[in-house]
Amino acid sequence: MARKQLSTTAIHAGEARNELGAHVAPIYQSSTFSFRDMAAVEAQEMGESETYMYGRGAHPNRKILAEKLAALEGYDLIQEAREAGEDGPLVSGEIFSSGMAAISAALMGLAQAGNHVITQGALYGSADHLIAAVLPQYGVTVSRVDYLDVDELAQELEARPQTTAVYLETPANPTMSLVDIQGVAAVAHANGARVIVDNTFATPVQQRPLSLGADVVVHSTTKYVSGHGTSIGGAVITADLPLLEEKIGPLIRFTGGVPSPFDCWLVNLGLKTLPLRVERHAANGLAVARFLEGHEGVMAVHYPGLESHPQHELARRQMSGFGGLIAFEVKGGYEAATRLLDRVRLCSLAVSLGTLDTLIEHPASMTHRVLPAEHRAHIGIHDGLVRLSVGLEAVEDIIADLEQALA
Ligand code: PLP
Repeated sequence: MARKQLSTTAIHAGEARNELGAHVAPIYQSSTFSFRDMAAVEAQEMGESETYMYGRGAHPNRKILAEKLAALEGYDLIQEAREAGEDGPLVSGEIFSSGMAAISAALMGLAQAGNHVITQGALYGSADHLIAAVLPQYGVTVSRVDYLDVDELAQELEARPQTTAVYLETPANPTMSLVDIQGVAAVAHANGARVIVDNTFATPVQQRPLSLGADVVVHSTTKYVSGHGTSIGGAVITADLPLLEEKIGPLIRFTGGVPSPFDCWLVNLGLKTLPLRVERHAANGLAVARFLEGHEGVMAVHYPGLESHPQHELARRQMSGFGGLIAFEVKGGYEAATRLLDRVRLCSLAVSLGTLDTLIEHPASMTHRVLPAEHRAHIGIHDGLVRLSVGLEAVEDIIADLEQALA
């Protein structure tokens, strides 16, 4: 059969009709599942039937969503395998109650006491805190290579032979710096470490880390994947099925970060339109980035789609579009940023991102306030830095709002 387009996969993958033939899979709002008899219990225990027992272990709405997201993150790998005549689930995943629950499970699955984790300078604030402050409490040591430059990373890996995971975000929240996934994967694998990539910003529509050699993808599905700002959620996707089945997957059962059936249903509904939405987010993102770059009140604009981004070439190589996230620095520091954030009318002053509407926030006081001030300054989160998640409104209206607020 001909290769299906990504947008078709987003709509159809994972969808399961129930016995009544409901066209859209229903919400199975049930915590436990009954068995016909003990023979059915035994069949499930032996892995001979696809039945459910208890919603913390597995749940149909979670399964539908995991299959759809795995089909998107694994889009190239699955197609290549099919073309080579291979069958079966080559990429799989688990859905969590938040992006942080997914990130915790991925890290706990890959790093135990005595192991080492290497990460980059700029990360989402809570992920940064988890890695830098919480993991060491459990005997996992941590170090940073600011931009995960491949040569510097190779040196760090050699100096730290107990490294089991390299954790990265690209584009990074909020600085929009990029990491060369393919380069990092090659050097990490040569030193026996696995690579976890947070693909929340780019989404599988614009970047597929598993195809570039990464081992595990994590998401905050709260953002673009869901797209409508209606639930908190997370996901782990990997082509390393033993890693998922033996190490990362069971952690949802034993740490209990399960999403509700309704939240999975909402995220699944949102995911169907991801390719369509991301296309418009990216078109609006580029137009807004160009507007900001030409504005006299703006000192710097960080958007990988701009030729002025220092890693624009890398962006073109590993991404098929540049998304809707922009970081920019206003002239006049904290006071100027505050004036802008107080004056916007269409844009909402709110954390989170990837929603239909445009959100604007001040990383130093909001998403990244948990970081020590010296570290914020070191990675470029200055008091004049503003993060914008460009929505799907008419771009003229977004620009007009920013223009009046910057005036
Ligand atoms: N990763 C990135 C890049 C994020 O921006 C966030 C949240 O803002 C997270 C992970 C954490 O996700 P959640 O808030 O769903 O736990």
